Amino acid sequence: MTKVAHTVLIPRSQIADRVSELGRQLAKDLRADLEAMGESEPHEVVIIPVLVGSILFVADLVRHVDLNMSMRVVTVSSYPGATTESKGAALKGALPPDLAGRHVVIMDDILDTGNTLAMLKRLVLEQNPASVRICVMLRKEIPREGEADLTPEYVGFDIPDVFVVGYGLDYDGLYRNLPDIVILEDPESV
Ligand code: 5GP
Ligand code: MG
Repeated sequence: MTKVAHTVLIPRSQIADRVSELGRQLAKDLRADLEAMGESEPHEVVIIPVLVGSILFVADLVRHVDLNMSMRVVTVSSYPGATTESKGAALKGALPPDLAGRHVVIMDDILDTGNTLAMLKRLVLEQNPASVRICVMLRKEIPREGEADLTPEYVGFDIPDVFVVGYGLDYDGLYRNLPDIVILEDPESV
């Protein structure tokens, strides 16, 4: 499948089970919020996928969320090119402008330092949404200090501090299509 050596960290069957669990939990929580507020507007729930890495995760998860929702994508670049080190997050383009009063769910592939999601959450909150939730497929177990400390409401898996690809995650634009989440052996030598 790939031309580089890799070790499977999370196999596709485990991903599928966990994603359906997360989707059903998210739907339940959103439904409770909507009922508590007596809302019936069809555009109340807005999913914001962070491109490109979250596309497989979002596509699979929303099929388990049986609610009216709209989707507005944002693009953030944090690992441009062939590197496995964080270069800080930058939002490309604008955030959707009409989030006031809505239930917003920001979805990303992985929380590493938390800078990307902390920035997005701050920008979403400026619009006074009814609620903001963060949903990530993976969270790295690294020491977290200071302002980027962010606790997502939904986490698929906690993983060690290794560089992973597959299921949407890339190295230099490649490997997003791998069905399993894998650890690349020595990515700098690719
Ligand atoms: P943070 O802002 O939390 O440090 O970085 C999050 C972003 O960094 C993710 O959306 C992802 O694009 C990238 N990233 C962090 N860790 C990994 C990893 O292990 N593999 C890949 N492919 N991308 C990662
Ligand atoms: Mg990303």
